[in-house]
Amino acid sequence: MAAFVRRGPDRPHWRRGGPRPILNDHTHLSPGMFIPSRGSKVANPVVRRLRTLSRPPVRALAALLSLASALLVAPGVGAQAADASGLRADIDRRVAQVDGKVVAWRRDFHQHPELSNRETRTAKIVADHLRSLGIEVRTGVARTGVVGVLRGGRPGPVVALRADMDALPVGEEVDLPFASKVRSTYNGQEVGVMHACGHDMHTAMLMGAAEVLAGMRAQLPGTVKFIFQPAEEGPPPGEDGGARMMIKEGALDAPSPTAIFGLHVFPFASGHLTVRPEGLMASGDVLRITVRGRQTHGAIPWAGVDPIVVAAQIVMGLQTIVSRQSDLTTSPAVVTVGSIHGGVRNNIVPDSVVMMGTVRTFDLAMRGDIHARLRRTAESIAASAGATAEVRIDTLAPVTYNDPTLTERMTPTLRRVAGEGNVATAKQTTTAEDFGYFQQRIPGMFVFLGITPKGSDPAKAAPNHSPRFFADEAAMPTGVRTLANLAVDYLTQGATPTPASTRGQ
Ligand SMILES: [Zn+2]
Ligand SMILES: [Zn+2]
Repeated sequence: MAAFVRRGPDRPHWRRGGPRPILNDHTHLSPGMFIPSRGSKVANPVVRRLRTLSRPPVRALAALLSLASALLVAPGVGAQAADASGLRADIDRRVAQVDGKVVAWRRDFHQHPELSNRETRTAKIVADHLRSLGIEVRTGVARTGVVGVLRGGRPGPVVALRADMDALPVGEEVDLPFASKVRSTYNGQEVGVMHACGHDMHTAMLMGAAEVLAGMRAQLPGTVKFIFQPAEEGPPPGEDGGARMMIKEGALDAPSPTAIFGLHVFPFASGHLTVRPEGLMASGDVLRITVRGRQTHGAIPWAGVDPIVVAAQIVMGLQTIVSRQSDLTTSPAVVTVGSIHGGVRNNIVPDSVVMMGTVRTFDLAMRGDIHARLRRTAESIAASAGATAEVRIDTLAPVTYNDPTLTERMTPTLRRVAGEGNVATAKQTTTAEDFGYFQQRIPGMFVFLGITPKGSDPAKAAPNHSPRFFADEAAMPTGVRTLANLAVDYLTQGATPTPASTRGQ
């Protein structure tokens, strides 16, 4: 069974014996890179000066002085390094300035959570903030989404940063002065509403990063696109929404970014970061099975076909797909039935039962295989009882697939931001994210940010989506710095072609 295809860069042709490439303006010189032999045409002033160093000693001193001045002005090396460190220091200064606001925004969003596709208040605050920074703003993208474009003062590539804005139908049980008391209706039921997945933090941190980057726009070598996305948790039944709809409505067009970054808070050491190349989070598919029997009196079941018993058999049958039929050495997978509805009264066998569940995989082939087995199992068990099963599988999110080349390139940025010892390889998680839709279109990297306070055990912390989910605000400056630094480092390094990520979808 095919696992993810490793998408490492192809071997350069010159390693296979072809002609060596000539350094061009896009090549970044670094210590240790080869210097072309004399006689070849070299535009880079640093290389020219390095070459003169090998001339007779009488000219060497002059060349050395010349090299020193070149390092200060050369566009390829010295200036870029100086620029980068200047920009980084600027980011840190500005993050400290904006930190109070980020906390205030986060608390405000936390106290006023909005369900998926209903993020009107949040979106307005976001849009007003971006406009106040002089950022070009488009609203109403995929219903309530907001897209901002910040054009830097210098030419360069386009990079996107994404945050999600929606909350969950969960009643908050955390004792906070800004705890949510909001109630709403979801899927016909009255529910509490809570930012139980930390999207309040994501939105606030990206607003902070926007303010930081807008403050240094004159120095930015390129364009930053801010994508504030609705309905990451999935639009309400019957509605479209989320990343897929944002892309359909042009979130990645005009201008088109060549890379995208996003982050998500999870319970582990506050302020630490984790990331991994390739499949980070699972694909999430929504499973819906309608079992149709024939209604009858509960006392004379033989006069009908009982869909409740059939549904029970199907639930058990589905559990054998992962445990008995899938090669778990290839990749993990999960099939869960999370809801069963059928019947209204103790002594009536109903006509039908509706079940809903979720399917999680990290591998494209395995995903297709499990889908086929789900259909076969449900339909065959139903047929064995004279009932029918209609199976519908909708994609909520593809695999969150971190482009390996981009991830390798940007991991040093994470280490610098969080500290060398505070960045680790992320474990795969069977939770899903619709960030993968962006990564299907352009290379992207999704990063986890720890939010378990110092002194607490992350293993005992309430997970995302729990009514007791608690996130340490002290991690937020690291989040803002991560977003801003990823954008600036990507722009400063210049866009290099990375293969489009299409695996795991
Ligand atoms: Zn969530
Ligand atoms: Zn989430």
